[in-house]
Order: sequence, then C-alpha cells, then structure tokens
Amino acid sequence: MDAVRPVPTPSAAGIALAAALLLAACSGDDPDGAARERSGAATIGAAPLADAGRPRDERLADLLSTLAADSMEGRRTGTAGAHRAAAFLAAELERYGIEPAGTDGYFQPVPMARVTTQTQNGARERLVLPSAEVDFDTIPAERLLTREVNVVGIIRGSDPEVAHEAVVLGAHFDHVGIGAAVADAAGVLDSIYNGADDDGSGTVAVLEIARELSTGAPPRRTVVILLSTAEEVGLLGTRWYIENPVVPMEQTVADLQIEMIGRPDELAGGFGRGWLTGYERTTMGDQLAAAGSPIVADARPEMNFFFRSDNIAFAQLGIPAHTLSSYNMHEDYHQPSDEVEAVDFAHMAALVDAAVQAVRFLADGPRPEWKEGGREGLTRD
Ligand SMILES: [Zn+2]
Repeated sequence: MDAVRPVPTPSAAGIALAAALLLAACSGDDPDGAARERSGAATIGAAPLADAGRPRDERLADLLSTLAADSMEGRRTGTAGAHRAAAFLAAELERYGIEPAGTDGYFQPVPMARVTTQTQNGARERLVLPSAEVDFDTIPAERLLTREVNVVGIIRGSDPEVAHEAVVLGAHFDHVGIGAAVADAAGVLDSIYNGADDDGSGTVAVLEIARELSTGAPPRRTVVILLSTAEEVGLLGTRWYIENPVVPMEQTVADLQIEMIGRPDELAGGFGRGWLTGYERTTMGDQLAAAGSPIVADARPEMNFFFRSDNIAFAQLGIPAHTLSSYNMHEDYHQPSDEVEAVDFAHMAALVDAAVQAVRFLADGPRPEWKEGGREGLTRD
C-alpha cells in the first residue's frame, strides 16, 4: 500500500545489522534460485508437490516466514533483499508448474533510474521509468538500476471463446527496506521493515491462488500472475507491465490486487472477510457478493485506498480494477513491527479461500463493467 508520507531512509546501524543477518542467513546476492531462473532451465510441472496436502494456513505461514524474514531486508526496490525475494517467488511458481511469462523465465526486467528533483523541501531522490522526459542514455551508469524485476506467470484459458481475454491477479512484493530503528514492545530496537502484511500477505496469497488454479479445472479466461516490484515508490513495476503486457491491455478484462490481508478487519465483518477498494465503481463487487463471496465495500473511502495500490494504474486505462484487503488500520503499517508474528493465518487462509473463488469467478463468469459515474476522478495528472 502506498504511503502518504516519505519512506524511511537507510541508517548506517540498520545496514550493519542487516549485513550481519545476511551473512548468517544467506550465502550471497544471487542464490541458486536466481541462477537457475536466469539460466532459463526451468522444468515445468515436473512432479507432484511434496507438500500438496498441507493445510492452507500452514502453507501461507511457511511462505510468509520466508518472504518477510529479516534476511529479505524489507525488500526495498534496488536492494539485494528485493532481488532475493524475486528469486524466491519465481522458484515457488516453478515448483507449482506455472508457465513462466517474463522475458527471462519468470522475470520481467523493469529498467529504473535514480534521479534527483528539486522540491519545496529541498532535493529529493526518486526512482523513475524511462520516458519521453527521462532518456536513460543520458543518465550515468551508476544511477541506473538493472536488476529490478516483476515476477510473471500465466495460466492459459481453456475456452476458445474467451481464452484470449485475461484477468490479471497481482500483488506487490517490494516494501520499504531498512530504516530508522524503532523500539518494539519489549524495548528492543528494530530497523528492518519486514512488510509481512504490506504486502507479503498479498504476495503469498497470490502464490497460493495460482497454485490452486493450476491444480483444478483450467479457467475459461487466461489468468496472468503479476508479482510487481516498486509499488511503494510509485507503482513502477505495474506501470512497466502495462506498457509491456503479456496479454494486450485491450484484452485484459479485469485486475484484482491483493493487499494487506494478514489481519481481520471488524469493519469488513471480521474473520475470513475482506473489502474491495472502489467497490461501488464497477459491477465486480456486486457480482462476487451475488456469488456468495464474503467481500464487502470499503468502509473507509476517505482513506482513498482505491488510489493507493497497483489497481489504480489499470483502472486509469479503463479496466475494472480493485484491491482486496482486510487492512484494519493497525499501527504497524510501514513500521518494523509489521512482522509475521502479528499475522492471523487462520483468517488469512479463510480470505484466500474466498479470493480463489473470486478469481475463478472473474476468469469463468461475466466480465465486470463500470457503473455509471464509476470512472470519475481517474484521469492521471
Ligand atoms: Zn506499503
């Protein structure tokens, strides 16, 4: 989820701590998974999963414990932690037998540059994509980021009538990295912003939904699995995907993002229930509710969550696009305390059940449409 304030800047102490943890947990910047993915030597659908019968809450706990571990350094775009996270996600999709849909196995490289702009508060560094205004040929090499990737897979539709249409199922795997140290409840300082809920929870939910979709009856429409980078710094991964889609945007009929579903939200009805940003704008929410889904409207429209996640980039193109969440406004948002220990995996597993049904419905049922006035306020400035 996008912040309404600047992301923390790394501190020397935090970096030293992270480096120590890395030495303990990891052998290098490019682990076996990444090397194998980059070689393109993926074996698809090789063998049944050894863990196929595990309960969903345990499976999600395993995945999130890896993705939000301190060794992932808070998955900040442009860091080794983010690259390790991408390698882990690609390895999981491969393990499930999902077809890769990047240009380099599951990886879709996203070129970025670090530029300095002058603001009222002084010079500010930010990451940008190549554009008409920013010619990467004129940017010094040390300011170019060359290792950032989206992780992309595809489950091909089975109905010749609609298999050319796609539903994009997404979550962002990046978070805000290492920053100012904050004391936890026991007074212990922590500088790693783990992002277990934001958006580790959505990312592992997408993995789990993809695994489930690939084991059942194939969907009628094609489903694109998009684990995006650089959401926290301006939706850069998703904006790059939209310029370089796996299925053309004209054939993309819906986008569902999953963000922050690690804890129940009373305003959504509590355990196992979630809310959809911008619910009233399209028919998607009503269609899911009519199909028995425990997904309701966002009870906090004043927070503008519809505009604060990857879905907005699709919506601005005219594609019905929403974010499913159960964020309960907990105070660990963008804090080092957004840890795996605070996640309610029974709730999360129940909401992932609902999300599996929702994605099946979007892939197999009538395509959602904008309601009258639903596109108000969507133009980019
Ligand atoms: Zn966030």
